[in-house]
Amino acid sequence: MTALTDLTLTAMQAGLAAREFSAVELTEAHLAAMAEARHLNAYIVETPEIARAQAAAADAALAAGTARPLAGIPLGIKDLFCTEGVQTTAGSNILKGFIPPYESTVSGKLLADGAVMLGKLNMDEFAMGSSNETSAYGKVISPWKASGSTRELVPGGSSGGSAAAVAARIAAGATGTDTGGSIRQPASFVGIAGIKPTYGRCSRWGVVAFASSLDQAGPMARTVADCAVLLTSMCGYDAKDSTSLNLPVPDFAAGLTGDLRGKRIGVPKEYRLDGMDATIAKLWDQGLEWLKAAGATIVDVSLPHTRYALPVYYIIAPAEASSNLARYDGVRYGLRVTPPGGNLADMYAATRAAGFGKEVQRRIMIGTYVLSAGFYDAYYTQAQKVRTLIARDFEQAWERCDLLLTPTAPSAAFAFGDKADPLAMYLNDVFTVPASLAGLPAMSVPAGLSADGLPLGLQIIGRPLDEAGVLDAGLAIERAAGFTARP
Ligand code: GLN
Repeated sequence: MTALTDLTLTAMQAGLAAREFSAVELTEAHLAAMAEARHLNAYIVETPEIARAQAAAADAALAAGTARPLAGIPLGIKDLFCTEGVQTTAGSNILKGFIPPYESTVSGKLLADGAVMLGKLNMDEFAMGSSNETSAYGKVISPWKASGSTRELVPGGSSGGSAAAVAARIAAGATGTDTGGSIRQPASFVGIAGIKPTYGRCSRWGVVAFASSLDQAGPMARTVADCAVLLTSMCGYDAKDSTSLNLPVPDFAAGLTGDLRGKRIGVPKEYRLDGMDATIAKLWDQGLEWLKAAGATIVDVSLPHTRYALPVYYIIAPAEASSNLARYDGVRYGLRVTPPGGNLADMYAATRAAGFGKEVQRRIMIGTYVLSAGFYDAYYTQAQKVRTLIARDFEQAWERCDLLLTPTAPSAAFAFGDKADPLAMYLNDVFTVPASLAGLPAMSVPAGLSADGLPLGLQIIGRPLDEAGVLDAGLAIERAAGFTARP
């Protein structure tokens, strides 16, 4: 029999329903696997007591016939989601020891649906990063190695703990958040699936804010169907988030067919970058063939403002971050550093200098600069205008196609320290940021391997609210790719 931790989330649901194993057994299997995989540093905090109690409650509900859809499913929660009574740090030293008295809406919905929380997953500090090297709790190590190499690789970021945990079978699924690619890029790096829904589908309430006009939660799991199950639970209107969409949420899992007959898949020519990795270019073409075989037609489209997406993102995201992170002042949360003889301003400065890491400080400075009098119009206002043009590119593309297919990231996972230059790091987001700026649903699905045996993902972008279409295309790729490689 396969190890319980190896099952997909949907297989776990079936096994629990058929009483092949109990929720407690499933949770114990995961807790044991977590103990074996601590070197990955995927979890900042493990919550075995909570998990055991929730698993026992799930078994009782299963026995009583009152089980909710996720009863007994062991999940990891990204440390950006506030969890009642459990430390939440956003990967930052400034929130060390912060125990929220409330539960984020999204994690609360998963728990209300019966999920078991295994712990809080490591991440780049305040979700700023693409490699999980900026966490104040240490880097997360990918469970993957390139063939013939012993070098440790990054799991991607910022949801690197989520990605590593799901790939290493120490969580059946995980929450991620995606501001500019943080669900899709790490999913691509570790060979799992992940979907960022339309902006507003998931409530941001109780999610530590990075860039509020971009931040979206979403699931990361080993299969498209598993993502669909989690997404259904996570989405929904929340009066506590003014940008939350008050619209019905379909049962994404029940609607999943993988049938693409009649669908038009757009190929944006601007994503074919000069000097693009040949394996990735080939995989992209292969993906188009797979979608054709599932019934779709392929059309060329143009998204002319694509080249401005990265610079626009790296103005807007830091601008919003500099404002959001102003609340960490040493008074209300976590860390406080009081220099002897200092006044209140000295306390703020000392706390923020000690509490924020280098990348976060860099973003706060960039954000403060682009918002400052004299530069606001030149940078921030201009970036907002170009953001509108980027969104309009997509609107025009939707006149010719229903979905877009692109690579998820320009490379496979890299080694620690390989992208020490911040600009080289930011380039990781080149394919993911445009959909974020336009608020569109987008997912990464594992599609193949690089020349040295590392996972590569393909990205599907959909119209606003068409998560179902994105998931169907994801399923078509998953079926055709037959991706079975594992760390
Ligand atoms: N890598 C991007 C950044 O550093 C995206 C992060 C994210 O989506 N949270 O901002």
